[in-house]
Amino acid sequence: MRRSRLDALICAQEGMTSLSRAEIEAMQLRRLNALLVKAPDRQGFYRDLPASLRSLNDLKALPFTTPEELAAHGGRMLLLSQSAVERVVTERTSGTTGNAKRLFYTAGDLERTVQFFAAGLGELIFPGSVTMICFPFTGPNGLGELISEAVERLGARPLRVGVGKSYAALSEILKRERPDTYVGMPVPLLSLLRVCGRGSLRRALVSGDACPDSVLRCIEELLGSRLFPHYGSREMALGGAITCQAHAGMHLRENHVIAEIIAPDGTPLPEGERGELVITTIGMEAQPLIRYRTGDQARFLPGVCPCGSALRRLDTVSRLDAAAFLDLENAMFSLPWVADYRAVQTADGLQLEVLTCGEPTALPEIGAAWSLRPVRPEDRALIYGKRGVIHAVHSQWHVD
Ligand SMILES: [Zn+2]
Repeated sequence: MRRSRLDALICAQEGMTSLSRAEIEAMQLRRLNALLVKAPDRQGFYRDLPASLRSLNDLKALPFTTPEELAAHGGRMLLLSQSAVERVVTERTSGTTGNAKRLFYTAGDLERTVQFFAAGLGELIFPGSVTMICFPFTGPNGLGELISEAVERLGARPLRVGVGKSYAALSEILKRERPDTYVGMPVPLLSLLRVCGRGSLRRALVSGDACPDSVLRCIEELLGSRLFPHYGSREMALGGAITCQAHAGMHLRENHVIAEIIAPDGTPLPEGERGELVITTIGMEAQPLIRYRTGDQARFLPGVCPCGSALRRLDTVSRLDAAAFLDLENAMFSLPWVADYRAVQTADGLQLEVLTCGEPTALPEIGAAWSLRPVRPEDRALIYGKRGVIHAVHSQWHVD
């Protein structure tokens, strides 16, 4: 089996020839100390941290950075002057504080993200293949644009599909352009395959939203191949962890991110246990974060990957509060006639608006009012962004 392409990329970026666990951790400590030594000079948010650590283990003694602190003080976390910043992304958080998170990237940060995307996509995209990119295209250095650039570097052709196209338009693209690869969120891919048929699509990299394993298995059955899940967030310049040929978890971009898993009280958890993912973004030039609490839940898969890489692997990642929502997604999409659905909370309770693509069978008991109608060619995905956040389905909804 071919080793994860991320190994070769990290060796090239760091000038290394091999990546044992000890070599990876020595490189991480070197990078961490290189950014800590700059912090006092900047007199920014991290000015009181020690200027160097003796071991990676000492990182565990440093304070966490919370999303609220990032929203309130993001500008003070800049390690470079504003003039070195190539792109700023403003992300309104779901909280009510009114502060928006601002993330800053240099041209170098964005270039390394493209290189990382190319390593991940290189596992499933071949020269001459055609990839439909179903992420937003928002302008220079947007997510869709960066993926498109990575696809081109692999000698493949990107189709800039974006989000919000009708099923009729997607069917037309499948028929006319015959893409073999899909890059986008998982649930819209399931809907696409159920409504438009398998078409020419053979492989997919999914990212951007958590979904239950059952949804991934449904997609794999329709595609006839294993999926390549990816995990990333804006705090890590969009690229974080990618799947290799072993399909045994997602390899972390460990030269740019030190990851920890912690219990709710903040204590580090041993390898294999699920908890909150905390990241220290040692590879970000503009705005490296120290021990940032992502609010995502994950675990490390123990040991060396079957592909031979010693880079740490994350199991599936979801939001910490997503259990009830994932149960609902599982219950809904296990019905093969559900093309898409939307859960709306009203004064009368939970309403499920469902687009069907086949004869409905018995409805599961989930204490909700249902409205069903057959999907029409002019319909579009009911939800464009992260489904869990938009659904806002809380724990009072119980799925039997
Ligand atoms: Zn691997």
